[in-house]
Amino acid sequence: MRTQVAIIGAGPSGLLLGQLLHGAGIDNIIIERQTADYVLGRIRAGVLEQGMVDLLRQAGVSQRMDAEGLVHDGFELALDGRQVHIDLKGLTGGKTVMVYGQTEVTRDLMAARAQAGAQTLYSASNVQPHDMKTDAPYLTFEKDGESWRLDCDYIAGCDGFHGVARQSIPGDVLKIFERVYPFGWLGVLSDTPPVNDELVYAKHERGFALCSQRSATRSRYYLQVPADEQVEDWSDQRFWDELKARLPQPLAERLVTGPSIEKSIAPLRSFVVEPMQYGRMFLVGDAAHIVPPTGAKGLNLAASDVSTLFNILLKVYTQGRTDLLERYSEVCLRRVWKAERFSWWMTSMLHRFPDSDSFSQRITDSELAYFVDSVAGRTTIAENYVGLPYEAIE
Ligand SMILES: Cc1cc2nc3c(=O)[nH]c(=O)nc-3n(C[C@H](O)[C@H](O)[C@H](O)COP(=O)(O)OP(=O)(O)OC[C@H]3O[C@@H](n4cnc5c(N)ncnc54)[C@H](O)[C@@H]3O)c2cc1C
Repeated sequence: MRTQVAIIGAGPSGLLLGQLLHGAGIDNIIIERQTADYVLGRIRAGVLEQGMVDLLRQAGVSQRMDAEGLVHDGFELALDGRQVHIDLKGLTGGKTVMVYGQTEVTRDLMAARAQAGAQTLYSASNVQPHDMKTDAPYLTFEKDGESWRLDCDYIAGCDGFHGVARQSIPGDVLKIFERVYPFGWLGVLSDTPPVNDELVYAKHERGFALCSQRSATRSRYYLQVPADEQVEDWSDQRFWDELKARLPQPLAERLVTGPSIEKSIAPLRSFVVEPMQYGRMFLVGDAAHIVPPTGAKGLNLAASDVSTLFNILLKVYTQGRTDLLERYSEVCLRRVWKAERFSWWMTSMLHRFPDSDSFSQRITDSELAYFVDSVAGRTTIAENYVGLPYEAIE
């Protein structure tokens, strides 16, 4: 088999890159380890930055998002009972975010790819990139008991944090930056109306809580829990009681509870690998970086990497600009590190750290108060939350 761009992974990064390339007439094949149903079963992100919304529109997959997604002009901070509104739209000159689940984005991208007749090979095992430093890279994999080889011009490693692409780069080439947090997020999805029109990020002495949502009838709530917590120890009733204890009283009183339809614990981690490319292979999205979800940045960073790689490949194929290829990593990393910083800051400000002494807690409280009580501070939070601009590829 032969294609122009071989994409490893059919998560949002791989599917969005594939859709943009296909729209530009650049041939690509996606190789995915799991089944399509398994990929669609993962409950993950739900807040899309303006840049990602625009990119989905550019890719021609925004019809359902524009009809069903919820545009949010702001969000709420609940700081030990006190509520502060962050007016995203007013503070950023009109920018907003879109609440539309990652599962739905993935479903729309899969449908568009099937309709376009572009090839995705699911349930492929032992995927392995080869000869990335040469002009003739290729992938090998197994499917339906047979061994396959896919020759290509370029490889996009869109295979997430545990994927094979990053692991195929020699260790001495990569520099890893990592912070593992001493807590995780216990998440519950429920078919109940959201407690508030906008998202609520709650800082409380019992720990952080987030009231998020997927639609007008489906809510997603999170609680900070110790890193070694077991999901089996959390009945629905215990979850709702703890959430109410961490919310300001008016919100706790109007919280509608119901049976959970999904409950899981996600660890919190900051991770970046440099560089994000190795010869003709490019790392995209979670394959290259992870953020704690407090800033709603993971999926959005994947989208900005996709935009950068797509715009470079477009110029390579239409204008012969192969000189741009080596700029991929530096362009991505500039934006990645800013999002890493914001995600770390939001996490540091809003969570309870087990080893934090009383002095550190007062400093955190006062830093947060300084930010939310000043227009400049709220503007800083708002412009990072709606997403920093994508860098143009000239
Ligand atoms: C539990 C959880 C909750 C999250 N919540 C949020 C949130 O609230 N907000 C937010 O912004 N972000 C959140 N994120 C992060 C966000 O979901 C990711 O940033 C996003 O999925 C990245 O997309 P991706 O396509 O780069 O990687 P992925 O979505 O991980 O997709 C990678 C794909 O590659 C496939 N793959 C892996 N290895 C191989 C292989 N060897 N061969 C072939 N295919 C392979 C995988 O099966 C997968 O389909 C969350 C992540 C997790 C894990």
